[in-house]
Amino acid sequence: MKQERIDQAEEYSKALQGKSVEKRLLLAYKKYGKKLGMTTGLGYSGMVLMHHIYKLGLDMDLYFIDTGFHFKETLDLLEEVKDRWKLNIVNLENDMDLKEYISKTLGNTPWKHNPNLCCHYCKISPLIKILSKKDAWISAIRRDQTYDRSSIDYVELDGRGTLRIYPMADWDKKKTWKYIKENDIPYNPLHDKGYMSIGCEPCTAPTSAMEDERDGRWKSSPKFDCGIHMHKPVK
Ligand code: SF4
Repeated sequence: MKQERIDQAEEYSKALQGKSVEKRLLLAYKKYGKKLGMTTGLGYSGMVLMHHIYKLGLDMDLYFIDTGFHFKETLDLLEEVKDRWKLNIVNLENDMDLKEYISKTLGNTPWKHNPNLCCHYCKISPLIKILSKKDAWISAIRRDQTYDRSSIDYVELDGRGTLRIYPMADWDKKKTWKYIKENDIPYNPLHDKGYMSIGCEPCTAPTSAMEDERDGRWKSSPKFDCGIHMHKPVK
């Protein structure tokens, strides 16, 4: 069964090659309808993908994982998008018990003591609760973001066996910003201050022009991903 799903994902990925983002989204929506979901951290690529969803009028659920550690600018942008595009963005929050447990076990600065556990409690655990609600998940990740993402296909089965669709896999930073400027897309003002990938405030720093855009995440630690995008295909 697993091999069958991998083969289906590869075949589906080939069908999305050479298509526009609009066409990829429409094909995904035609196939999965309301069983198609998206998680977003409101990064600039995500804003472009959400603008496409808005333009196409796709009735689907989007999820923002509210860790409780986001920048004010990110939370302001969330409200602006909800108001402007009327998208159904669900705030996924951790339950209070877990927050109390984190604070008791890892202290008030959990990202310093054990960032993996902190991400697990604040991001992965709420995510896992909703993954099974949908048959496929779209994401705005791109091949040019990091070496780790440089070989992603348009459709993959991730390490959890979740079907992932990446309609912007072949877009690059320049093309993405061009779209933002030409279409007057709102974006996080922190991008203009050198923050190219924006996550929780304690774990996000600006990057220089020489760095990958995700190099500002967990800058002083070997950690490079929170575990949401387990984009390595299951083999
Ligand atoms: S990014 Fe940092 S603050 Fe946010 S959940 Fe992960 S370790 Fe905790």
